[in-house]
Parts: sequence; C-alpha cells; structure tokens
Amino acid sequence: MKIGIMGGTFNPIHNGHLIMAEYTRYSLNLDKVLFIPTGKPPHKEIEEVAYLNHRLEMTVLATLSNSFFQVSSMEIERKNITYTIDTIEALKEEYPKDEFYFIIGADSLFEIEKWKDYKKLLGLCNFAVVERPNYNNDKIVEKIQNLKTLHNSNIVKVDSPLIEISSTEIRNRVNKGQSIKYLVPESVEDYITKYGLYK
Ligand code: ATP
Ligand code: MG
Repeated sequence: MKIGIMGGTFNPIHNGHLIMAEYTRYSLNLDKVLFIPTGKPPHKEIEEVAYLNHRLEMTVLATLSNSFFQVSSMEIERKNITYTIDTIEALKEEYPKDEFYFIIGADSLFEIEKWKDYKKLLGLCNFAVVERPNYNNDKIVEKIQNLKTLHNSNIVKVDSPLIEISSTEIRNRVNKGQSIKYLVPESVEDYITKYGLYK
C-alpha cells in the first residue's frame, strides 16, 4: 500500500489541509491518507497542551466524510514530545511492506533542516510537497532539487490549488468574532462554537 501521512498541529484543521491531502492522494494514487495530529509541541506554549483532545476531535470530524482519510492518535497519546522521525520509524516497523509519503506545505519544506534527524528522515520516507501562498515556485523546485542531491531522497512536488488559509488566521478570526464559514468544515466550525475555543 502507498500511504500518505499528513502531520500537523491542526489547531484547528482547515480546508487547506483537506484539499492538499485529497489532491496528493489523487495525484500519487495513494491508498489512504493518515492524519496524525502532533502531540506535545516541542516549541509551542504549554497552554496548547490543553487543546490536545480538541485538535484530535476536530481532525476526526473533518475527515469523516472521506473514506480514504484516517486519523491516528499515536502522537497525541505519547506522554513526551514527539518528533516526525519517531513516528515514521514506528510506522515503518509496524507496516514494513508499505510505502509512505509525508505530505508537507512549502513552509515546512524550508524548515525541514530544523527537524530532528532530518537527514535520516529524508532517507527513510518519501515526501510530497504542496505549494503555499507567499512561497515562490522556482525556489520550491530548487529546494527540492538541493535536498534530493544532498540527501539522496525522494521528494515530489504535487499540484494542488493554492489555498490561502492557515490555522493562525482561523484562531485570530474566531478571537475577533469574525466568520470562519467555508474556511473549515461545518462540523469543525460547530465544534469551535460549542467549546468556545480560541476566545
Ligand atoms: P499554523 O498557522 O498554526 O502554523 P497551519 O495552517 O500552518 O497552522 P499546520 O498544522 O501548522 O497548519 O500545518 C500542517 C501541514 O500542513 C504543514 O506541512 C503545512 O505546511 C501544511 N499546510 C497548512 N496549511 C496549508 C495551506 N493552506 N497550503 C499548503 N500547505 C498547508
Ligand atoms: Mg503551520
């Protein structure tokens, strides 16, 4: 099986995440996409830990209507800080015959050298990169080429609509009482309202 991995804070999950996952699934012919919300964030605020279960719940709600999408709580359940390398190693051990594609946006591509054991990670897992507004396409292609030659990795660029949505923007809009309709699935919008998140 070819499996896509969508890692993210998903605070909250939004339509940009869903669109990039679906277009990558389709264009790489993936059998499924596994959404893995991050656990305790290495660099983020303590108060975000309070959102662990909310982030997981919203990810489940958002992905329910796509039969190719699944959610894993493997990072959320770990008591310690989790890193992508640990997750990929665990998945490869559990499913040695499967092929994994880690799906990332352009911003993550330019940060990848900050990830723990990134060289090992690049050799261990394929990457699928999706464009993001404000990231120059030529620079993305150049960066992918650099990483490929330096680390002998398999990184592919995937065509997906350019979507100008971020979780930061959604949190800010909710905080200001602005509408987030159509930026997130309705179930996520209702969940945010119900629990009064991001106020
Ligand atoms: P935040 O603003 O809190 O950082 P975010 O919108 O960037 O949230 P993350 O959970 O940080 O969402 O992102 C998870 C993954 O999805 C990352 O690889 C990121 O690059 C990618 N991603 C998120 N939104 C988009 C988007 N609109 N277009 C392309 N990639 C995206
Ligand atoms: Mg982000």
